[in-house]
Amino acid sequence: MPQIRYDNITGVSHIQWDVSFPIKCPICNNEFNSIFSISKQSINRSNFLRIKKDDIEGWDVLVGEHPQPLVDDKYTGEWNDWPYKSEPAKGKHYSVFIGKEHRPFHELSKDQVYETLYAIQETYKKLSDLNRIIYIAVIMLSAYGTDMEGHPHFEVIGLPFVPKTINEEMNKFMKSFEEKNSCPICEVIKAEESGSKLIYSNENWLAYYPWSPSRINEIRITSTAHYKPITKLTQKELQDLAFILLTVSKTLYNITKSDYAIVFHLLPPKRTVTYFHNYIQIFTVNNIVESLLNGFGIYIGNSDIESKKIISGFKSVLKEMVGL
Ligand SMILES: [Zn+2]
Ligand SMILES: [Zn+2]
Repeated sequence: MPQIRYDNITGVSHIQWDVSFPIKCPICNNEFNSIFSISKQSINRSNFLRIKKDDIEGWDVLVGEHPQPLVDDKYTGEWNDWPYKSEPAKGKHYSVFIGKEHRPFHELSKDQVYETLYAIQETYKKLSDLNRIIYIAVIMLSAYGTDMEGHPHFEVIGLPFVPKTINEEMNKFMKSFEEKNSCPICEVIKAEESGSKLIYSNENWLAYYPWSPSRINEIRITSTAHYKPITKLTQKELQDLAFILLTVSKTLYNITKSDYAIVFHLLPPKRTVTYFHNYIQIFTVNNIVESLLNGFGIYIGNSDIESKKIISGFKSVLKEMVGL
């Protein structure tokens, strides 16, 4: 049964996700149980988004449970505390599928990305209401949808813990407020009015290259206003974000020709503190393990199999060297 393990040394959490990728595309194989869909309606020339429960044909974005969830309330197991802290990988894992075709994220339309952001917002609200969920991870693991045979999608994952990366960032923001009475991201926004790291800005969002990058090929996108919970973003803000996400992703792809991840750094849903400034991070990746590890400090895989391989490999080396 999938388990969450916590490392007392690095703070990284490890979720045993024993899945062989790619997973057969659940959309194209008609194996997806959706919970709702988003479609665009055109009435009197003004477009608005509609949420529908069951729509087999007319959907633009489809949301439902991941076919092999990273966390799930069905998973059972033991809770252990010290020194090998672990618990069953309980939670809720939704996937947000974009369009009916297999194409990379940066080739989607602005409307598709807008509808996706709206679906993410709705899914996020749904998960926020669940008591046991402590953090909601919003992430696109692969711009090429490599984990699902190429179907573009986001993950919205309700976790029973706050991931390492978010925890560390919350502490950093808190410290800045305590010591300097200022927000580090608001300072970037001020500095980049006349700085050299600004990529693009519109009324609501700003994309920039970090002063001191933390990932390979990292770009950050942040709201111009300090406190912007994802659940409160307006239609206009989502539309502007769709445009900036798409143009920045295309740029990163044109320059690197590499796959990339999109990670939302958000405050835990039940925290009402206002010192945190949400942002979105885009960086290049080689595989989806890197996406979750570099995005949130969550290591996925089966470490029991991996450790066995290393230990038996070592025995062979030892035999060769000392003839044991
Ligand atoms: Zn597909
Ligand atoms: Zn701020």
